[in-house]
Formats: sequence, structure tokens, C-alpha cells
Amino acid sequence: MSRYDYVLVGSGLYAGVFAYLAKQAGKKCLVVEKRNHIGGNIYCREEEGIHVHEYGAHIFHTSNREVWKFVCSLAEFNRYTNSPVANYKGQMYNLPFNMNTFSKMWGISTPEEAKAIINRQKEEISGEPENLEQQAISLVGRDIYEKLIQGYTEKQWGRECKDLPAFIIKRLPVRYTYDNNYFNDLYQGIPVGGYNVIIEKLFQGCHIKTNTDYLENKAYYDSLGDKVIYTGTIDSFYQYCYGKLEYRSLKFETEVKNTDNYQGVAVVNYTDRETPYTRIIEHKHFEFGAQEKTVITREYPVSWQDGMEPYYPVNDERNQNLYCKYAALAEKEENVIFGGRLGEYKYYDMDKVIESAMAAAKAELGI
Ligand code: FAD
Ligand code: UDP
Repeated sequence: MSRYDYVLVGSGLYAGVFAYLAKQAGKKCLVVEKRNHIGGNIYCREEEGIHVHEYGAHIFHTSNREVWKFVCSLAEFNRYTNSPVANYKGQMYNLPFNMNTFSKMWGISTPEEAKAIINRQKEEISGEPENLEQQAISLVGRDIYEKLIQGYTEKQWGRECKDLPAFIIKRLPVRYTYDNNYFNDLYQGIPVGGYNVIIEKLFQGCHIKTNTDYLENKAYYDSLGDKVIYTGTIDSFYQYCYGKLEYRSLKFETEVKNTDNYQGVAVVNYTDRETPYTRIIEHKHFEFGAQEKTVITREYPVSWQDGMEPYYPVNDERNQNLYCKYAALAEKEENVIFGGRLGEYKYYDMDKVIESAMAAAKAELGI
């Protein structure tokens, strides 16, 4: 029987980055993945010659030069810049909130006019915003909140904006320039050849077992290695002893369309409350595809239940307090490192997951 230095539970970016650095330090790694493929949520499937982002649109962006250098050593990145469009009852608005959005919303043309309207509309909020609704109104005013934020957010999170933490909406830039770039980061792009190019390199040299749930045979897998790197949900690791953390899940409905260009952009958000999906992704536009057909995916938010994929942690106060109790148990573990979106219960983007895995690997391996 092989002995491993590390048993990695999950094969997403966190486990991949850790495994890659561990192998460079001469360590042996076993990867245990419950899905039938490696890559976690960045995995792509090929259809009609198009890389289909199987678990939702993934655009890489970062301001961390070390992270950017690292990913560029694994794949070449194209010049894709995310510029999604919002569809509110058939009217199209540019995102993120910028002069193009303000001009369409109010028929104005200058930053001064936009500021005057937003300043007037945000007067209804006094003091520090305490929830997402107040935060949104104080950033962009009530008109934009009602047309472009409220419906989308309530569908996405399954609760009212008043009951959501303010930080979620601060992910989006607000700009008084005509700039539709969804991110403020220095670096951005999509790996040429899709994300699987990166995944293959990260896990090269590891022993990999797919279709295998670590928790169903935990003692056995623990016995195979000196340490476990665990990237599944932290509450399931502890058999939900303090109760269940909440997640949001998604249902993806993918369709091949017999046209070369369905919506003219990779991402269209449906921001009204009535349309049951939040966005439609047209995958070919991530790589400027010229294929004859196109593949689109409708993304429906759903509440998480056993057996579903837990895509988003719900970092409100109740869940955050519960997470802290699990984190206190995790801290006492000598042979388990918890990492990633599920292991750390954090709304991490890819670059932050890489940063976190690099820091853990450096501390662990002394590199
Ligand atoms: P994951 O990719 O979730 O990997 C965890 C793996 O562990 C999974 O493969 C799972 O099957 C496996 N696993 C869990 N439990 C067990 C078990 N018991 N036994 C065996 N295996 C197990 N980030 C960006 O930077 N840009 C974006 O545009 C972007 N878009 C996103 C869109 C969506 C819809 C979602 C959900 C996320 C998006 N993200 C984006 C975030 C990005 O997906 C994550 O930051 C990153 O993939 C997390 O990597 P991870 O390794 O922590 O987790
Ligand atoms: N959001 C919104 N309208 C939009 C896009 C986003 O109100 O058209 C809000 C919504 O609350 C969402 C949050 O901004 O959850 C963060 O959006 P982001 O695109 O970063 O979400 P993700 O890609 O992680 O699902």
C-alpha cells in the first residue's frame, strides 16, 4: 500500500495549487474527488468545439502579481474582459454601474449629472449601511437598486436584500466613467484552451481517485497519508455536530443553439424578479469563438439541500457565528488543513483561493 505525504480531499483550485507546490517540494500526493472529474468548479466540458464552463461563468481576475505570474506559468491568458449586460424587462443596461448605465437609466451624459441624481436618491440612507439594501441605495440610488439589484439579488440569495450582508454588493465597482469592465483588477483573462489546461498541470504527478467521497471512508483515507488537505464543506467534516451551515446552490440548463451568436456577449443578467434564472451564459464569447453553433446555459439559483452542490456560502451573521464554532474545532486539528471556498466558508474568487493555498503550502512546506 502506498503512503502519501498528503491526502487531498477535493480537486478544485485550492487542492491543485497545494498539490503542485507540494510535488515541487518532493512530496507524494493522493487526490480523492467525489465528482467524476477533477477541477472542481472551474472544470470545462467541450461541446461543439466550445469550452463550456460546466459550473458557471469563470473569469480570472487579480491584482496580485505573484498569483498572476503563477497562473501565467501554467497557461497563456487571452484578452477577455468581462462586460456583462443586464436585461431588465427587455431593456439593456451595461454593467457594472458606470456612466453607460446612468446615461441609459436617466438620459443624462455627464458624471456631474449622474452624481447629482445618485446623491439625491441616497439621502434616504443615514449613517453606515447595515444591510445590502441600504448599501446598494447609498452606492447607486433607488432607481438602480430597484431595476438592477433587488430582483437579481433576491433570486440569487433567496432572501430579501434587507436580510443580506452589505459586503456582497461591494464586490461590484461603481464608476463615473464610461468603462464597462466588470472588475477593477490589474490583470484579467481566460486561459487559452480553457481551465482544464491549468487543472491538468496542477495535478500532474498526483495519484487521483475520482467518484470517491472521502467522508464515506474517512478513516481509511486518513490512514494513507501523514496529513489531510480538506476542501469540502467544513460542517460535513464534523458531521454537522453544531448544525448545518447554509449554502446557495444552482441549477444549470444548457442548450446548443443553431446560430453562431445568440446574445452577442458572454453574460446577460436578468435582473427582474419574475424571470426564474439570474443569467444566461454564452460560452463561446469567453474565447472569441467562431464556431457555427453556440452553447448557452441558464443559471437558476436554488436553496441548497442534501445531495446538491454547495456553490455559495451564505456569510450572514447566523452562519458566520456557526462557522466560527467549526473553525475552532478545525484549529485544534494537527493533521488536517481546511482550505478553499467550502473548507473556509468564504465567498472566495479564484485568485483569493490561489493566494490562500499558496500561503498554506508555504507555511506547511517551509518554502
Ligand atoms: P471547489 O472548486 O468547489 O472544489 C472543491 C472540490 O471538492 C469539488 O470538486 C468537490 O466535488 C470536492 N469535494 C467536496 N467534498 C468532498 C468529499 N467529501 N470527498 C471528495 N471530494 C469532495 N471566481 C472567479 O475568480 N471568477 C469568476 O468569474 C467566478 N465565477 C464563479 C461562478 C460560479 C457560479 C461559482 C459557483 C463560483 C465562481 N467563482 C469565480 C469562484 C470559484 O469557483 C472558486 O473561487 C474556486 O473554484 C474555489 O476552488 P476550491 O478549490 O475552493 O473549491
Ligand atoms: N448583483 C446585482 N445585479 C447584477 C449583478 C450582481 O444585484 O446584475 C449583486 C448580487 O447581489 C450578487 C452580487 O452583486 O450576488 C455579486 O455579484 P457577482 O457578479 O460578483 O456574483 P457571482 O459572480 O459571484 O455570482
